Amino acid sequence: MASNLAFLERSLKSVVEVDDFSKNLLGVQQAVEREGLAQPIQSCINRSDYMLNVSNKDGVRDIGIRQVEINAIASGMSSHCCNVRKMHNFLMSKYIPNFDQLRGVTFPQNRSLDFIASEMIQLHDLYNQKHSDKFILLIREPRSLNFSEHFQIEYAIHKLRPDIRLIRRRFDQLPGNIKLGPNKELLVDMKNEVALVYFRYGYDPSNYDFPEAWNVRLLIERSRAIKCPSIGFHVSGIKKFQQLLSTQEEMEKFIPAEKAAELTKVTCKFWSIEDGTEAGKLGFRHGMSDQNLVLKPQREGGGHNIYGKDVKPYLEKMANSANRQQYILMEMINTPPEKNWLIHPKDDMTKDGLKLNSYEPLVSELGIFGSIVTDASNIVSNRSAGYLVRSKRVGVNEGGVASGHSGISSIVLVDDDLEDLSKFYQL
Ligand code: ADP
Ligand code: MG
Repeated sequence: MASNLAFLERSLKSVVEVDDFSKNLLGVQQAVEREGLAQPIQSCINRSDYMLNVSNKDGVRDIGIRQVEINAIASGMSSHCCNVRKMHNFLMSKYIPNFDQLRGVTFPQNRSLDFIASEMIQLHDLYNQKHSDKFILLIREPRSLNFSEHFQIEYAIHKLRPDIRLIRRRFDQLPGNIKLGPNKELLVDMKNEVALVYFRYGYDPSNYDFPEAWNVRLLIERSRAIKCPSIGFHVSGIKKFQQLLSTQEEMEKFIPAEKAAELTKVTCKFWSIEDGTEAGKLGFRHGMSDQNLVLKPQREGGGHNIYGKDVKPYLEKMANSANRQQYILMEMINTPPEKNWLIHPKDDMTKDGLKLNSYEPLVSELGIFGSIVTDASNIVSNRSAGYLVRSKRVGVNEGGVASGHSGISSIVLVDDDLEDLSKFYQL
């Protein structure tokens, strides 16, 4: 999909009429393809997020996972979730007698950080196996809460391959600091050749609020450096594609029927709400009458969605507006709460000393890290490893950790018929 420009253009036709950000991203890809790809290798390190859903099918309780979204750029938290898993392992070994010998209980390793590091090493090596004097350039935000994870990725790469050098640069410092060499090599600080550009920024319109921002993005995409994600993969992460590929029929255009059947088991129901089409009008009407929906614009990074009872008044304001074209409507995933603890900076632990003795209902979201690499015509590799669990209090809509909505957790796998499960709740 990411390398099928005609499909991307067709799919985003109505979105780009009203959404400049999607239009600019697609514009970069169109310009790069017009010129001819300087780098056949395309890549994307991603994270696919899921929640549990309970529904009632003909009176029978049905429980399964549903995909919330797939993040195609700047997928984060790979190091923090590994550290949290280590902490939980320590605490459970300390407080649950014979934790590691409990029958039917598995506490899986979390390989997220090493996975991402080794995928980046693979990309670096694909650029030019013979020379390791080329750089990995990590593009970051001006003020970065994420610096600690960026460093951990650098350390993880260094541990595996001390010969590879990673440099971090702010996106807004790149104008005047990067250029193309005679063979479209990407040179940073005007002299260091870049093998891999790793975007941890550039996913939101506000990231491009400085002069030359889009020209810098275009220059990078035109270069011989491998990009992660490449522009095609970035575009394919736009939420509109989730709606378009949510049915088996559409998915079958890209993958075999049996795989499409498997995958559509985890997709939610989606509706277009655009004004100009019959389907969009139906979707809009549905949005006015159902309270269990999420309205999403084509944005990443949290804070943009409209949830539940806020959807109807929001739609009312857009009744006759072309602006509707940039939204998709999604069924609300109905996640069963589980008992757990969330430690939040706003909680006053000293005042309420009993807090740690009381569970509260939380809902969790599972992210699975993945990585895909393609060349001009084939998939070179397509792997996944590692996980992120974010838990939040019931009733909280957004799911971000850095934004203060959720905390990082871990997975314990238990057999269905486990007798000892109660031990976990006797803590
Ligand atoms: P963003 O790109 O801003 O992260 P998401 O689609 O991941 O957008 O939505 C943000 C959060 O909102 C998710 O992490 C999840 O907690 C919640 N959310 C999103 N879609 C749904 C849904 N269909 N049902 C329930 N919760 C949802
Ligand atoms: Mg998300």
